[in-house]
Amino acid sequence: MADGVTGSVTIAPSDGIRHRGAAIGLGSPEFEASRTDLLAARRSGSAGLVHSWEMVTAVDGPGTRMTIFMSGCPLRCLYCHNPDTMGMKEGTVEKVEDVLKRIKRMQPVFKASNGGLTISGGEPLFQIEFTRRILAGAHEMGVHTCIDTSGYLGSRLTDEDLENIDMVLLDVKSGDEELYRRVTSRDLAPTIAFGDRLSALNKRVWVRFVLVPGLTDSDENVEKVAQIVSRWPNVERLEVLPFHNMGADKWHTLGMEYELDGVLPPTRESVHHVVDIFKAHGINAIAT
Ligand code: SF4
Repeated sequence: MADGVTGSVTIAPSDGIRHRGAAIGLGSPEFEASRTDLLAARRSGSAGLVHSWEMVTAVDGPGTRMTIFMSGCPLRCLYCHNPDTMGMKEGTVEKVEDVLKRIKRMQPVFKASNGGLTISGGEPLFQIEFTRRILAGAHEMGVHTCIDTSGYLGSRLTDEDLENIDMVLLDVKSGDEELYRRVTSRDLAPTIAFGDRLSALNKRVWVRFVLVPGLTDSDENVEKVAQIVSRWPNVERLEVLPFHNMGADKWHTLGMEYELDGVLPPTRESVHHVVDIFKAHGINAIAT
C-alpha cells in the first residue's frame, strides 16, 4: 500500500515523555508535546497519528488521490499488507490545520484529474475525531472525499459526517460470518449494517473483495458476498483484488505470526471465475 512514510514517532506508554510531531510528513512543523497533550489532541481530533500518505492515480477512488493512511485498526486480517498500521504505535503526529493546508495545495491536481482525498489505513474511523475534521475541512474546500474502510466502525459516523463523504470504498472480506471472523477476528454484521446505511442514503460505493486461495475463494463464500452486495443498488463496482504475499516481510519483522506463508496469488482463471460469479448476480465486478 503506502510508500510515503516520511518520519516516525513512537507513542511511549508512560506519561511525561516528550514526543516529536512530524516535520516533513504532511506538513506539520516540528513540535513537541507531552503524552498528555498528545492524547488530548487526539481525543479532540486536533491532531492524529498518521502512518503515511501518498499520491496515487487510478486506485483508492477516481482520479488522482491523496491517500492518507491512518494508524490503528480494530481488525486483524490474516492477509493484511500493512500490519504496522494495526496498532497505534507508529506514524507521524499531524495537526488538522497542516493536513488541510497540504490538501488545499493539492487542489489543482485534484481538479485536473477529477480526483480528491482518500482516508485509508489502518482504519480511517479508528481515530474518528481527526478523520471527521479532515473530511469536513476538505469537503468545505470542495475537494472530493472518500474513505477506505472495512465498515466495522461505520456506526461512529454521524449523518453529518456522511454528508462530508462523497464516496466509500467498502471492504467486504468474506460473506460467510464464521469465515469473516477467521479472516479478520471480528464480526461481519457491522459491515453489513454500514453497507445497508450507505445504500439507504444512495451513497456512492465501490466494494473490494480480496481473493485469497484456500481462504476466501470458495464458491460458497463468494456467493454469500454476492448476495450481500447485490442488495445494495448504490454499489457502482466491485473490485476483486488478488491476494499477494508482499506484506509477509512486515509480519516477520514485527515478530507477528503470519499464517499465509506459502500461499500463492490466485490464478487468472480463478479471479475471472469469481468475477463471473459476481456478474451473474448483476454486480459490476472487475479484476484489478
Ligand atoms: S482492515 Fe485493513 S488495515 Fe485493518 S487489519 Fe484488515 S487489511 Fe489490515
